[in-house]
Amino acid sequence: RIVYVNGDYLPEEDAKISVFDRGFLFADGVYEVTSVLGGKLIDFEGHAKRLERSLSELDMPAPVTMDALLEIHRELVARNEVHEGLVYLQVTRGAADRDFAYPAEPKPSLVLFTQTKTLADAPVAKTGIKVISIEDQRWGRRDIKTVQLLYPSMGKMMAKAAGVDDAWMVEDGAVTEGTSNNAYIVTKAGTIVTRHLGNEILHGITRAAVLRFAREAQMAVEERSFTIEEAKDAAEAFITSASTFVMPVVELDGAQIGDGTPGPVATRLREIYLEESLKKAV
Ligand code: PMP
Repeated sequence: RIVYVNGDYLPEEDAKISVFDRGFLFADGVYEVTSVLGGKLIDFEGHAKRLERSLSELDMPAPVTMDALLEIHRELVARNEVHEGLVYLQVTRGAADRDFAYPAEPKPSLVLFTQTKTLADAPVAKTGIKVISIEDQRWGRRDIKTVQLLYPSMGKMMAKAAGVDDAWMVEDGAVTEGTSNNAYIVTKAGTIVTRHLGNEILHGITRAAVLRFAREAQMAVEERSFTIEEAKDAAEAFITSASTFVMPVVELDGAQIGDGTPGPVATRLREIYLEESLKKAV
């Protein structure tokens, strides 16, 4: 596999990052994951805009322009012959003598790699996933897409230990989001409910697109908090992310949601999302 590191395209075994890189020492870095379908990038613009916002919230300089970033994405997809999969991008504040304060003149690091994966026809989309609820113990700025992912990793391990696929995190009695995705329910009245934006959740690029498509299709949408009890009693549940698109959730804390199979709203939204975002892929 060819990876990109600070201006160079290299075989992965030749790529190097300093042991003093602040991404490694302080998790002082941000990332994006963009999906690839038919060799093209899905919603690149959304990911580039969120990256700019994450960088600006952390006073971190952008290592290259967003136009250059698009070219690097395309070049890496081409060199690795990725027809379907993901492009991972990480920007860190770079190498500096270890100090909690940011260096005065940071030299940011930029790393990208690809992963080939079946996404659109992932078999699990046909059956749906099972989740458990866990306490949300992350930091308070979840709107910044940092590489501090240890608690979400612990959450995935808790899910694994419980024999399910993922975990929904709960804070002050309300669901925030999944370990690496946004969480939704569909009420018995047919309203799509997902948590409102704020510092408590990542502002998903897939979330923004799915809510837009839902409203365009005249579906009722409410952006507000919901509880685990409301979710267990919902007609449907699902998650969204760049790597899963719209993925039905059929079980929560051992309770079947709806009839325990992917519901019509989640199924329809997945179809619309795939169709519409492919039209705008670059
Ligand atoms: N929430 C969290 C905590 C995430 O890690 C992710 C995916 N990185 C998402 C939501 C979904 O965001 P997106 O649709 O932009 O992939």
